[in-house]
Amino acid sequence: MATTGRAALFFGPGKPMELVDLPVPDPEAGAIVVRVARANVCGSDLHIWRGDGMLAAMARDDGRIIGHEMTGVVHALGPGVSTDWAGRRLAEGDRIAYQYFAPCGRCRSCLRGLSAACAHSFKVLRGRPTEFPYFRGAFADYFYLTPQMAVFKVPDHVTDTMVAGANCALAQVVHGLERVEASLGDDVVLQGAGGLGIYATAVAKQRGARVIVIDGLDERLALARAMGADNVIDFRRLATADERVAHVRELTGGWGADVVCDLVGRASVIPEGLAMLGLGGRYLEIGTFFPGTPVEVDPGLLVSRNIRVEAVASYDAASLQQAVAFLDRNAGRLPLEQVVTDYSLDDINRAIEDQDSGQVTRASIVMT
Ligand SMILES: [Zn+2]
Ligand SMILES: [Zn+2]
Repeated sequence: MATTGRAALFFGPGKPMELVDLPVPDPEAGAIVVRVARANVCGSDLHIWRGDGMLAAMARDDGRIIGHEMTGVVHALGPGVSTDWAGRRLAEGDRIAYQYFAPCGRCRSCLRGLSAACAHSFKVLRGRPTEFPYFRGAFADYFYLTPQMAVFKVPDHVTDTMVAGANCALAQVVHGLERVEASLGDDVVLQGAGGLGIYATAVAKQRGARVIVIDGLDERLALARAMGADNVIDFRRLATADERVAHVRELTGGWGADVVCDLVGRASVIPEGLAMLGLGGRYLEIGTFFPGTPVEVDPGLLVSRNIRVEAVASYDAASLQQAVAFLDRNAGRLPLEQVVTDYSLDDINRAIEDQDSGQVTRASIVMT
């Protein structure tokens, strides 16, 4: 069995990542060492890589393993681990989906049932790559699952490209749409049909909502339709916010939407989204995840329409379980195979540059 594995270290924006060999740790009681199979470059990795907003502070002189959207197989089970979090038997070689952060279960948020807002979730990711357990990010051969990280077995017919996004975008929208109670009879508007928006389309549909998706790229709008969108709004045709707000009103019988979600990651869409909401509407913020890009909001509009604003930064274990169950149910029925371009870990810098420049939609690192 290998005693070392490769990891790509990130030193800061504009600096190339470097591959190093790190020792493969022995799992402690309750922990699991994962052999990473595939790690996608997520939009938030690009934000970190560019140093957007406050994310520049994530750089470390001694390097940090970034990346979080991934899937892999069990390499070694720690003492006491014999099943996943749903009670299914786990053995070496089993394919798994897992949280990449570790809700502590005992901080103020966790005690109030809000593990997605745990104060300590990301602590383990911040440690040094030269200290146990070394493998703290996705762009590496291994990943160390602490006992707090939820893990679920992946059904055989759910492929690696389908499941790699489960522990980031998919679980996130499952959790977010639950938080805003998107449900039967609701009109849901999704701002943006990237990874988050495409998953949100299918999940909102299956929760019984009518779904309106806004984007400006043909292939994204087509994919949104294939995922079940009832209406799409092409912002190349309706070029102003006023026109788009008026169109949503029209599509919702004059009432306005029950739920609007920012899945774009550009704060400027928020005032437009709030204007689309009807009485009692809920706004879900997921896309713009880093502080530092404020927008103007009319509080009187929120009050007069009884609007609720919710934001989710991560998700709970149940949402990941539901994400895997969603893939299990819909594999073969929905176009869930993510369109990815494969790179080797040696080419990590090129993969990120290509995605940043728009040459590829989604780069995916395959660890072979
Ligand atoms: Zn992500
Ligand atoms: Zn906690």
